[in-house]
Amino acid sequence: MLTLEQLKKKSDKRLIGLHPVFELVLEKLIERCYARGVWVLITQGLRTYAEQDALYAQGRTKPGQVVTKAQGGYSNHNFGFAADFALLLRDGRTVSWDTLRDDDKDSLPDWSEVVEEAKKLGLEWGGDWGSFKDMPHLQMVFGITTAQFRAGKRPTQTQLNAVLARLNKLNMEDEEMTAEEKAAFKALQNTVQKQADRIKVLESATKLSKVPAWAEQACINAKGAGVLDMANDGSYDFYRLITLLDRSGLFKKGGIA
Ligand SMILES: [Zn+2]
Repeated sequence: MLTLEQLKKKSDKRLIGLHPVFELVLEKLIERCYARGVWVLITQGLRTYAEQDALYAQGRTKPGQVVTKAQGGYSNHNFGFAADFALLLRDGRTVSWDTLRDDDKDSLPDWSEVVEEAKKLGLEWGGDWGSFKDMPHLQMVFGITTAQFRAGKRPTQTQLNAVLARLNKLNMEDEEMTAEEKAAFKALQNTVQKQADRIKVLESATKLSKVPAWAEQACINAKGAGVLDMANDGSYDFYRLITLLDRSGLFKKGGIA
């Protein structure tokens, strides 16, 4: 089990160079997902134009799959307002891009849980794009196009303040229980559920649907002696005990004082 701090540390390097408000939002995203039992890693953050060009070449002039439609200066990654995420599995090492995994066993794909939290934080998700779905991609661009970014336009203080206000509101909501407490609570709920399932299995394994033939007479005797109301649904051990007691003579007339 990674602590929230240990998990966050793994994304530290990828947050360098991002706009500080966007960085705060991503940190909040990691926190809120952690509280839901989903571990998020930021795998890509700021890219230089040269890095973007190298990525663009992949699948075009260089081997590999096409992963971007943007050349240097045409991606929001080049301006510190975009990041890519992936899931970190419970071994604390394996990174996963499987959008269907449900490691926290809440019947929701963990990937979708991240997207849901991201949207609550006001982030745009690349999976919503029509032409080129970019499932790991998150951004916060305030309606600024890459052409405007290239020309030097940046979000206004009012726009940034609106993001900070939303963060503040979520922080206050979250304060009732810390992310760590929520995660511990959820883990506890899972354990209790697992135990309940296990008990159900054990019960059905030991409960006999009817009185076994070898215990029938003992049960009749026990009922006759007034020590047994009903004999159905007993376990194997229960019938064994009744039989032993019967053999010891306990249920014979006068056996019970
Ligand atoms: Zn991206």
